[in-house]
Amino acid sequence: MIVGLDIGGTKIEGVALDSASYQTIVKHREPTETGSYEGFLASVMSVINTVSEKGEIESIGIGCCGSVGNDGLMQGANVTVLNGHDFIGDIQRQIDVPVAIANDADCLALSEFKDGAAKEAKHSCVAIIIGTGCGSGVIINNGIVTGLNRLGGEIGHNPLPNYSPEIDGQPVKCYCGSMNCAESFVSGTGFGRTFSEKHSPADSKQIMALHASGDRRAIAHLELYCDQLARTLANVVNFVDPEVIVLGGGMSNVDEIYPLVQDKLSQYTFTKSVKTKVVKSVHGDSSGVRGAAFLHSLS
Ligand SMILES: [Zn+2]
Repeated sequence: MIVGLDIGGTKIEGVALDSASYQTIVKHREPTETGSYEGFLASVMSVINTVSEKGEIESIGIGCCGSVGNDGLMQGANVTVLNGHDFIGDIQRQIDVPVAIANDADCLALSEFKDGAAKEAKHSCVAIIIGTGCGSGVIINNGIVTGLNRLGGEIGHNPLPNYSPEIDGQPVKCYCGSMNCAESFVSGTGFGRTFSEKHSPADSKQIMALHASGDRRAIAHLELYCDQLARTLANVVNFVDPEVIVLGGGMSNVDEIYPLVQDKLSQYTFTKSVKTKVVKSVHGDSSGVRGAAFLHSLS
């Protein structure tokens, strides 16, 4: 069986899948120990050991925030005790199977490409998480594009295409230092921020409740959001031209966005009749662990 772990700021989820059928054999979840690196490592090993009880492990994949720097040490993880440590090496020293690591967007892309919303795609797929932030995972020729600078898929920190203050609202500085990053508009946080700026404070759930009650402001706001998302995805199509774009994260659960985004996409792409389908992820919150489990299938 193959094992996948999804490490978040509050919980570590582990799954063991049958390596042939991809059926789930066992799932296990523990709180993330964030007080010390040793404690964190122990909680990761505890999840691995628990899911390993059901059979022989062939490989372990870990979906995690942050990335492995050129020196082999973790960097940029929001579970900060992890940063500066040889995390993969430390796991590898405790268990004698191959261990791989990738970020959550890469795991989403891989999970959906393998046996989810993009399983019909032969060579390419881009998965975009539109949740608290906006990140993406890019698969080309059956491999994840990580990149020389480990920036593969950082579409959220490109400027929102065709930004105009009259349509998109006041200029906004992103935490990354750039102005008008796409993430500031197309993430769930951005959806709430731009509505609150124009009307009254509300988060994405509250706006969608207004939308369901026929509120004109909310209807117009969702329309604008879909236009901003279509502009962002048009850049993906013009640059990578993937067979499928899969959406994950909180905003991907808003079913109303799909026909609107699909309709608007061709307005902004180089060719005006794109065949690329924009679809919702099939595995939802399980994509992190599933994609992590599949990491070794690429190498
Ligand atoms: Zn940014």
